[in-house]
Amino acid sequence: MVFGLFSKDKALQRTIEKATNKLSQQVDRWGALEKLREDGTDEALFGMCKRWGITSLKGVEDEPEMREQLERWRKEAQLHAGFEHGGNGRFAIMFEGPEERALADHISGVLETAYWNIGQRLNTYPASTLEVILYTQRHFTDVTRSPDWAAGAYDGRIRLSVDGALSNGAALDRVVVHELAHAMVHTLAPRGVPAWLHEGLAVSFEPGEKPWVVQTLGQASSMIPLDSLKSGFSGLSSAEAQVAYAESAVAAGMIMKRLGPNLPAFLQGLESTDSVDAGLVSFGFTTADLERSLRAQMRK
Ligand SMILES: [Zn+2]
Repeated sequence: MVFGLFSKDKALQRTIEKATNKLSQQVDRWGALEKLREDGTDEALFGMCKRWGITSLKGVEDEPEMREQLERWRKEAQLHAGFEHGGNGRFAIMFEGPEERALADHISGVLETAYWNIGQRLNTYPASTLEVILYTQRHFTDVTRSPDWAAGAYDGRIRLSVDGALSNGAALDRVVVHELAHAMVHTLAPRGVPAWLHEGLAVSFEPGEKPWVVQTLGQASSMIPLDSLKSGFSGLSSAEAQVAYAESAVAAGMIMKRLGPNLPAFLQGLESTDSVDAGLVSFGFTTADLERSLRAQMRK
């Protein structure tokens, strides 16, 4: 597949040029940076950071933000340079040291099984290799800047915090499947899926019973409106996040049940409508109905 590689390289090169051209519009530059982060290799990111080092950033209106972002990516690429590699082709797994190889093999198996399960539900089977990176908690927090309650993240790559993971296999497997679900939903519907639905689907695909969902709702005294969970959960406290995840899981569960095999088309449709309600209306319900049901499950 030399041609495929060649054209991918050329596309990356064009993205790099767009991202590093200080005459580009700010929004185009950041768009190109995001694309590079999603599609690019560490080498591509590293090369771009070097290019920025040579090209003066002076005169670019958002110079401090650009510098900060590039410095973070440079450090990340440097960190990854010392990592070990594993995986099976579908998943490229990177990890910090040889002592984690057995863990990486285990995670590879969990991903493989989940890929087919989730693939069947979403009717989507991503063909490109998905990168999965295992970090110690410290490096995970550095790289993802996630809140301290998070153990996994997906930003085009799956990033997992695996400190102490061997002693708690079930919890690790849950996080692995959760992040894979994000990756596969993203492949199916790259835009338009609100954070609460993304999270709710990811929780729903996690293996095992989830008694915490019903318990959390039962103990919550007020509902967080789904619309305020549209962009993400990272600003929430650990307790608020717990409620947000429980609400999302129940809401997504109801959508999955009502839509059945229509779920993938519904998710894809969100890209053009950017409105969950617009997609749900043909199934005879709206997010207001979901919220009513959530409220009914909460502490009176
Ligand atoms: Zn998530």
